[in-house]
Amino acid sequence: MTIRHHPPADLLTSYAAGTLDLGDHIAVATHLSACPRCQAMAAALEHVGGAVLTGLPPMPMTDGALARVTARLDEPDRHSDHGNKDRAHPGHQDLGRTNRAPLDGVPGLPGFMRRYMAAPWIWVAPGVRMRPIQLPAASDSRVFLLQSRPRTKMLEHTHTGTELTCVLTGGFRHAAGDFGPGDFDWGDAEVRHDVTVAPSETCLCLVAMRGEVRLRGFWGALIQPFIRL
Ligand SMILES: [Zn+2]
Repeated sequence: MTIRHHPPADLLTSYAAGTLDLGDHIAVATHLSACPRCQAMAAALEHVGGAVLTGLPPMPMTDGALARVTARLDEPDRHSDHGNKDRAHPGHQDLGRTNRAPLDGVPGLPGFMRRYMAAPWIWVAPGVRMRPIQLPAASDSRVFLLQSRPRTKMLEHTHTGTELTCVLTGGFRHAAGDFGPGDFDWGDAEVRHDVTVAPSETCLCLVAMRGEVRLRGFWGALIQPFIRL
């Protein structure tokens, strides 16, 4: 596997610091599971972060700090599935319990995702379908598998938020180059995507997306109401 496209440095730094949104974290972790170079960089960044913390001079605690921390121990864990009652959170996809299946068997995903559940495939556009993934905690980005037939030409589109994509099988091409298994693609509202899927095999990607897809041009405007992504 030759990996040509990696996450930008600031994304990798946030990953190493543990400050990424859960969906974005999963997308970067998927790339790292295939990329020794980024694994080494993330490990180095974690080491630097630890060294910086170790080197800081000790600070005296403020009055009542210990009592406040102790009181919070009894609060529900807002990051756990059980403690999270906020089902209306924009990124938390409650897929229900029917027809869900574990992701075990999907190639290229990191090991911790095998216990995640995913909904059945949903039609998106001709030749394109998606499978939403149930995350164990709230996330601002939605995570899903996106599968496209060989040679599929996506309508030119932009995003209202960020889109992090990791190729699992097959590949695609757009203005930034050719993307294959293990490659990582990052886009935001400033990037126009004019994507063509590679001719050889079905393209399967893991995507973490915020906001919505906005199709461009006459045909895009015409079918935008029918696109479910
Ligand atoms: Zn990499």
